[in-house]
Amino acid sequence: MSQPRHVAVIGGGVIGLACAHFLRQVGLDVTVIDKGKIGKACSFRNCGFICPSHVLPLAEPGSIWPVFRSLFQPSSPFRVRPSLRMSMWRWLWQFARRCNRRDMLQSAAAIQPLLISSLKLYEELMTDGADVCEWQTKGLLFAYQSATALEQYGPANQLLTEQFNEPAQRLSGRELHDFEPGLKGDLAGAWYFEHDAHLRPERLIVWWRRELENNGVVFRENLALHGFSMKHGTVVAAECESETIEADDFVIATGAWTPLLADILGYRVPIEPGKGYSITLETAVDDPQIPVIFPEYRVAVTPMKSGLRLGSIMEFAGYDETIRNERLRLLKNGVGRFLNVDRPMEEESTWFGWRPMTTDSVPVIGRSPRHDNLFLAAGHNMLGLSMAPATGKLVAEMVTGVDVHIPVEPYGINRMLG
Ligand SMILES: Cc1cc2nc3c(=O)[nH]c(=O)nc-3n(C[C@H](O)[C@H](O)[C@H](O)COP(=O)(O)OP(=O)(O)OC[C@H]3O[C@@H](n4cnc5c(N)ncnc54)[C@H](O)[C@@H]3O)c2cc1C
Repeated sequence: MSQPRHVAVIGGGVIGLACAHFLRQVGLDVTVIDKGKIGKACSFRNCGFICPSHVLPLAEPGSIWPVFRSLFQPSSPFRVRPSLRMSMWRWLWQFARRCNRRDMLQSAAAIQPLLISSLKLYEELMTDGADVCEWQTKGLLFAYQSATALEQYGPANQLLTEQFNEPAQRLSGRELHDFEPGLKGDLAGAWYFEHDAHLRPERLIVWWRRELENNGVVFRENLALHGFSMKHGTVVAAECESETIEADDFVIATGAWTPLLADILGYRVPIEPGKGYSITLETAVDDPQIPVIFPEYRVAVTPMKSGLRLGSIMEFAGYDETIRNERLRLLKNGVGRFLNVDRPMEEESTWFGWRPMTTDSVPVIGRSPRHDNLFLAAGHNMLGLSMAPATGKLVAEMVTGVDVHIPVEPYGINRMLG
């Protein structure tokens, strides 16, 4: 009997794990290689939303102005730190060009199938993992302090309803208080998306890795990819520091680090690290029970079974590893305006991650143009958790050459290489 094909997945975040899952499911041998610890990068302590509601991309008509204002406002929750890096300015220019209705709709049409398919796949996965991963299906609120801001979301809801069949229910201040008593009683109201789910991401990572290991997937930590050995356009081995890992196919799932592989790939994948923060607090009596986003302050609250997570902030500052106290304060103050009680704010943990940001909010999934057997699965922006299972399934379908369950054209790298 011939040996099953062997696939090496480079990068062990949620995207790498999802690729490993679906590759293994179709009977391939899989090794996941990570330069650090599996799942300890951006996939670790994010907000945990699995959110089909988030169809619209970051680049919308008008969204470029907050970006440019933030160059001069260090206390803005959306911040671009002035920098001399050409790649960042190129990224911003491409982003600015997409801040129009036509491009927004084009991105949304690419994002939505990944979100819908992933939610379905999570429902299957969570038949075993729900308890451990703290999986909950309570929907998601967009809550507002100001009546004007609440109303301003109306056209977006109309668009989501009419073009994407993803309507939200409008709640008045009183209805919101009855529905979610964990929020202050004087808020203007909210929009409620009932189909969204959430989980505790770091628990998902640990659970998924264990499941995969039990199914024969091999994990290699502290092993960074430095190059490929090639034979006639085919990659034959991943060169990792002191080791060479041979395989029949290779998947790059390196998140925000993907552009640093330009010398290895022969082209640069235009992804910028978009730094976000989270603070996890111990659960307190009277905490909200339903996940909430507060769009006016760009912060979010995730009530998990074993803690309350505050998250968000978007900082374009390159690969800066500093945890900035003023950013954490911004997060706490933003959320504090909405919570019902003077709850204790002692931190169980603080964390940051680099979201892999593309200019069109659409990930890069597909075959590498210069290699026969190398596949890219990166650039999942603010929705990597929400898009992971569909990405993994697509990669497995492409590697094995069967029909894809979602058309892959919108995700190809060629759209970025010009
Ligand atoms: C504050 C915050 C909140 C968020 N909330 C949500 C949310 O609620 N819902 C949601 O869907 N998404 C959310 N996100 C986004 C989500 O976390 C990311 O989109 C997702 O984690 C990206 O996954 P990834 O596997 O591509 O990257 P990562 O998890 O960063 O994994 C990439 C891995 O590649 C490895 N790697 C890199 N280079 C190499 C190399 N040369 N060799 C070997 N290994 C390498 C790294 O060590 C890393 O482990 C949030 C992000 C942040 C920051």
